[in-house]
Amino acid sequence: MSVWVIAEQREGTLQKVSLELLGKGRQIADKLEEKLVAVLAGYEVEKIADTLIKHGADEVIILDHILLKNYTTDGYTKAIAQIAMERKPEIIFIGATNIGRDLGPRLAARLKTGLTADCTGLDIDENTKNLLMTRPAFGGNLMATIECPNHRPQMATVRPGVFAVPCADDRRKGKIEKVAAQIKESDIRTVVEKIVKSLEDKVDITEAKVIVSGGRGVGNEEGFALLKELAHLLGGVVGASRAAVDAGWIGKDHQVGQTGKTVRPNLYIACGISGAIQHLAGMQESDFIIAINKDETAPIMSIADVALVGDLYKILPELINEIKGY
Ligand code: FAD
Repeated sequence: MSVWVIAEQREGTLQKVSLELLGKGRQIADKLEEKLVAVLAGYEVEKIADTLIKHGADEVIILDHILLKNYTTDGYTKAIAQIAMERKPEIIFIGATNIGRDLGPRLAARLKTGLTADCTGLDIDENTKNLLMTRPAFGGNLMATIECPNHRPQMATVRPGVFAVPCADDRRKGKIEKVAAQIKESDIRTVVEKIVKSLEDKVDITEAKVIVSGGRGVGNEEGFALLKELAHLLGGVVGASRAAVDAGWIGKDHQVGQTGKTVRPNLYIACGISGAIQHLAGMQESDFIIAINKDETAPIMSIADVALVGDLYKILPELINEIKGY
């Protein structure tokens, strides 16, 4: 009996969500008194296995094969399904990244079980010991808690940024087992010809340490250039409220909140954002929040560590000049 986290790596780099899942997975495994196992598929990826142990895994299963070098639905599904059928985990967690959203349903179908997609909460029912998987439903208007009482494994994809990355413990030791994946070329129907890196603007805000976020108060697309300048100076990225995204001032990739992305940067600067509950749901776990708003009674001001009352078009240029040392 074990709890599994499918660790996601791209070109040998571990995705942050995998560590977040190890943190939560550790708590769940402890409640069930089971082992926490990380499954790492790829080619020549052993060097990152130790990181998984240090972040909470008791054991790492490395599925190693040249055909797993790049992600393909067929290859990864077959390799992971084989080992899951053999070892019968109780629970499987996958990050709800583009890869995880593709892999999760396919794997669940292969294992003849259910999948709760895009979870924002996980717990164990004290009585039944079933996994409780919480996710927004009906466009985010209610939160549904879902159980999978009759099938195993219980499977969930989990939004990046929802859980904190646990501290690494260098003293942790665990078993690292390399398993040769039983796949052949004819199993894989897709060919990865080349990997095109995302454009500078297509940043993943869930990985950012600093986010400068803009709302309706920014007023127009040009205003976002100011936010971008500040973000750039702080080594961060630009986020946005749904109002700004709906107005077409910035792409949906940047939206923070219940129907956007969940973020927990070290610093979140909210500019011209009122702090609606759906926005707060996506950013209130940030370590330090600065809010800039003309209205001192805006809800964002009461959750901010520093609340600056005033026009963002006066405050931001001053802040930028200060950082530049003018
Ligand atoms: P507003 O609420 O209009 O606030 C603008 C703020 O800017 C005001 O506080 C104002 O005082 C201030 N301001 C104006 N001019 C200036 C200036 N020059 N300087 C400084 N401050 C200024 N919203 C999200 O953000 N993310 C989501 O994922 C999301 N999901 C949703 C899901 C559902 C089901 C629903 C119903 C709503 C969702 N919303 C979401 C929308 C949310 O309810 C709010 O409507 C939205 O967050 C408001 O965006 P805002 O704060 O930018 O705009």
